[in-house]
Amino acid sequence: MNIHEHQAKELLEQFGIPAPKGFVAFNVKEAGEAVQRLPGPVYVIKAQIHAGGRGKGRFKEASAGEKGGVRIAKSREEIEQAAEQMLGATLVTEQTGADGRVVNRVYVTEGVEIDRELYLSALVDRATSRIAFIASSAGGMDIEQVAHDTPEKIISVSIDPASGYQAFHGRRIAFALGLEGKQVGQCVKLIGDLYKLVLDKDMSMLEINPLIVTKGGELSCLDAKFSFDSNALYRHPDVMEMRDLTEEDPAEVEASKYDLSYVKLDGSIGCMVNGAGLAMATMDIIKLCGEEPANFLDVGGGASKEKVQAAFKIILSDPSVKGILVNIFGGIMRCDIIAEGVVAAAREMEITVPLVVRLEGTNVELGKKILAESGLKITPADNLGDAAEKITAAVKEAA
Ligand code: GDP
Ligand code: MN
Repeated sequence: MNIHEHQAKELLEQFGIPAPKGFVAFNVKEAGEAVQRLPGPVYVIKAQIHAGGRGKGRFKEASAGEKGGVRIAKSREEIEQAAEQMLGATLVTEQTGADGRVVNRVYVTEGVEIDRELYLSALVDRATSRIAFIASSAGGMDIEQVAHDTPEKIISVSIDPASGYQAFHGRRIAFALGLEGKQVGQCVKLIGDLYKLVLDKDMSMLEINPLIVTKGGELSCLDAKFSFDSNALYRHPDVMEMRDLTEEDPAEVEASKYDLSYVKLDGSIGCMVNGAGLAMATMDIIKLCGEEPANFLDVGGGASKEKVQAAFKIILSDPSVKGILVNIFGGIMRCDIIAEGVVAAAREMEITVPLVVRLEGTNVELGKKILAESGLKITPADNLGDAAEKITAAVKEAA
């Protein structure tokens, strides 16, 4: 799960990590009022969306002006004007895709004089099973580009969980960033506090781009992008409260209500499968047949008819789905429950795309009977390979 920059900055403050002061605003009036609580005379208004690259982004609406989602203002009037333009407008950045994101809130911060922009992130490194910090003196820009063009400008420091964070970790990063004097000590503390934050809140990733050295020589987190391990959110009600459903895919939000493992993908074949391994295999074989899956969906082991129905409706409501493959291996899951859920969903929503069903396992005969008697136009399949060939052929034919 991701959160907004202003929420990430709240967490930084809780952990004593330096960042420019700021206030979130949901309307123009609130944005203007932030002036009273900020030192001035320079302010920054930042669009709050779950995507980076806002500064270089552009709004779709002409009424939002020519500038991007990060703007400098020197008075209350300028703040209000920027907020007026951004709120409700759609910001397109390198990370949003062409559709962009609607800005529903802005963050008004104090303007800081920047001496240097650096890059810092922390993530769970699966290769070493450790939390690793990635740092680069080339901050403020696209880190993927830096990694590609000048990999020597990026260093990685991983922390052994048994011995924990040590000052030498922080010093290695400080020297790689070219920090000097009191900044080295600041960096050692900052990295230690960020490490604590990552562990305490079960974060999967944290990115500070840029981490800056101010004209006054202080380190400060100018931007902050945080992601959390969704499986650990149950023990962080404070973080859970920061969830902004308007930033998430509506189908994924709907799926999470039913505890379905659903991930929207770019392809055209909707998949309903039980078991994550079988779901992966189904996606692989669809690709092998020359098509792309429209989603990953695991209905789970002991799903109810209602859960299956909800899952099937989510697939049906996706306009990019040009064909559906139901692939069930009934172990704990019973094939008749799957059939009932599919039929119930089909009663509520018309199925206009080809549907291939492969059922195997517990109560398979009953499941097939329910489908056969439903009057639905279904192409049965005998095995996974057969199913994938049939659905890809049907989609190609319909195209
Ligand atoms: P992003 O574009 O979504 O990554 O948003 P950032 O918060 O990283 O801001 C983009 C850029 O705006 C930064 O890299 C800075 O160059 C600039 N910027 C943001 N806040 C300030 C500020 O307070 N003072 C100055 N001088 N520049 C700022
Ligand atoms: Mn940034």
